[in-house]
Amino acid sequence: MAIHGDVVIGIDIGTTSTKAVVFDGRGKVLASHAVDYPIIQPHPGFAEQDPDELFAAVVQAVGAVTIRHGIRPEQVKAMGLSAAMHSIMALDESGRPLTRLLIWADNRSVAQTERLWKEQNGLAIYRRTGTPIHPMSPLSKLLWLKEEQPDVFQQARRFVSVKDYVLHRLYGDYVADHSMASATGLFRLDTLDWDEEALALVGIRRDQLPRLVPATHIMTGMKREWAEKMGVASDVPVVIGASDGVLANVGVGAVLPGEAAITIGTSGAVRTIAAKPTTDEKGRTFCYALTPGYWVVGGPTNNGGILLRWLRDEFGAHEREVAKKLGMDPYDLLTKYAERVPPGAEGLVFLPFLSGERAPYWNANARGTFFGLGLHHKREHFIRAVMEGVCFSILSVALAIRDVTGPMSEIRVSGGFAKSPFWRQMLSDMLGKPLIVPQTHEASALGAAAVALYALGELPSLETVKTWIDTTARHEPKEEHTLIYAELFDLYARLYERLKEEFDIIAAFQRRSG
Ligand code: ADP
Repeated sequence: MAIHGDVVIGIDIGTTSTKAVVFDGRGKVLASHAVDYPIIQPHPGFAEQDPDELFAAVVQAVGAVTIRHGIRPEQVKAMGLSAAMHSIMALDESGRPLTRLLIWADNRSVAQTERLWKEQNGLAIYRRTGTPIHPMSPLSKLLWLKEEQPDVFQQARRFVSVKDYVLHRLYGDYVADHSMASATGLFRLDTLDWDEEALALVGIRRDQLPRLVPATHIMTGMKREWAEKMGVASDVPVVIGASDGVLANVGVGAVLPGEAAITIGTSGAVRTIAAKPTTDEKGRTFCYALTPGYWVVGGPTNNGGILLRWLRDEFGAHEREVAKKLGMDPYDLLTKYAERVPPGAEGLVFLPFLSGERAPYWNANARGTFFGLGLHHKREHFIRAVMEGVCFSILSVALAIRDVTGPMSEIRVSGGFAKSPFWRQMLSDMLGKPLIVPQTHEASALGAAAVALYALGELPSLETVKTWIDTTARHEPKEEHTLIYAELFDLYARLYERLKEEFDIIAAFQRRSG
């Protein structure tokens, strides 16, 4: 269907696909197109992507959406960019890739990360840069490259993220926005500049990194070839934008200091807005830039909806079969069973660390545990305990963030878990806070479009986005449940502390026997 009138396009360069989403001037989705690509895993623990495939996906996604919907170049008032955090790659003198993109999920730099913590005062680096010391961080990945592929490292003229690479191909200029830079472990939050100490530690010069610009920086003069393929004018303003994580906050309407967004998809994250850069003395949370007055403080958990998926796939053959007969989603059946059981699953507590854990514990050796099992426990207790375990892990991250930024004023939830009203209520009870369910699709792309309009002066502030977003549901915590969960959370946190050494032992055993 043809689209008339002015539009703004949000481009979200994600882990599984790049999406081009067409919005009107009030954030309404008019059309979208996604182009998928794989993660390449040449060795266990490696996670790479082909930068040229991602670049082609950007051009193709925008080109497809403009052609299909008859959008003429003069209708496109602006484009805004969002991209996944933590990717890094090496380029030669002429800008050609010497490596693939090493993406956030790449774990090869475990040894370098441990050394950063133990020998190189990792906590101080984190407190200057806001990026947790973790294999996801480009800082660790560059150390790996220097040690494991010294020839490539020496040959490299530059190091860039996925967004920097795409922009260089479009404009011939090496620029990075403060937000993407703040997720590299190489960027100082207080001066909005590269961190000389981190650069010296890795052994790179600042002229090997892109020029830094704010999220509202406007690029023009796109190379004609690409503008034509995308169906836009080469002087269309392209606003550099930020990272997908911080833009997702904008895109769900969590934009004022103290407002938080909780997402539980496959993994999970809690993110809140702070008015100034804020880090944790214990190193539990991240702090990434959006614009000078907006910082996103938060923590990711590995163990979100993937646990219910694991339960469904490994132990839910019965539910899958029944759901099929009834024409239901198996998740809806599983959660119905869980509803039969009272909060606390009659004494069954689940530590959900099936994939190790990032925030707040940052412990790759942590493992899952069912605690308190009795003969009275049936499958519905297990389902409920698993759902509660996911919420406990979110609560543990939220409490760490509260220590750093103070109490959260308003919490907005999204992701696959939000399809379940029961699971949402459980989270509200667990946090002891009201939850709002915003009606948003493509939150990061919407955030990118909003920043683009803001940069062009067509939006008075990013808070305006709130007026674009409808609320579909609201949950109030049930006090009696909150009390039960507070008691059990105390036990959960104690169990984690007590089992720390045992987790190391079982993880080592698993590695030996795997
Ligand atoms: P991804 O993280 O891959 O983008 P989603 O955001 O859709 O995927 O989240 C998927 C997760 O959401 C599932 O693993 C499951 O835990 C949860 N989920 C999806 N649908 C439902 C549902 N109807 N009820 C409860 N949980 C659901």
